Amino acid sequence: MTTAYSESTTERTPGRAWTVRILGHGSRTASVTCSTAACRMPARSGDFTALRTFAAAHAKAHAKAASITLNPKAYCHCGSQRCGSHLATKTSCAGQVVLIVRHDPLVRRVWTVEEVCEMCAPLIPNATVVARAARPERTATRTAQVPAPARPGIAGGFSSAPGEGDAAPVRHPRRASQRPRRRRSGQGR
Ligand SMILES: [Zn+2]
Ligand SMILES: [Zn+2]
Ligand SMILES: [Zn+2]
Repeated sequence: MTTAYSESTTERTPGRAWTVRILGHGSRTASVTCSTAACRMPARSGDFTALRTFAAAHAKAHAKAASITLNPKAYCHCGSQRCGSHLATKTSCAGQVVLIVRHDPLVRRVWTVEEVCEMCAPLIPNATVVARAARPERTATRTAQVPAPARPGIAGGFSSAPGEGDAAPVRHPRRASQRPRRRRSGQGR
């Protein structure tokens, strides 16, 4: 690695990704899952239209939230996945960070929101750029010859979907401090 680690203010963070998908359970019912386990999903249902509408809106909500917090120095998520979505056309990650939403109109069950680089974005199939990070100051044109290190630790959201109905219970922290009861002998009477 020859990358000089001289970023002063902002640290480079891995590009984020969210995956919303519709999972079929037989031909009658389906459910929606999100790679963010904390997200609330509707119950399994036979109303595919409603589920699809929910899933699309949910992906959109993630995109909107992500566009506000888009980190101009994020690593390309596509690059961190070894550019698996555009194997035919290789590129090296460079340029601005952009936020894309991927949705295959033929499959129609998966929406992916990803922080990727300007080079990868146009190569990823079915991707729409929905936001762009502010152009980083050009201090040095030291675009990496070093490929982004493969990080298998980052699940791209394509891992097995969590079982439905595991919404995290909201726990109210109990007050541990109970007032000690004081008995006063001289009270009353
Ligand atoms: Zn979500
Ligand atoms: Zn790529
Ligand atoms: Zn890239």
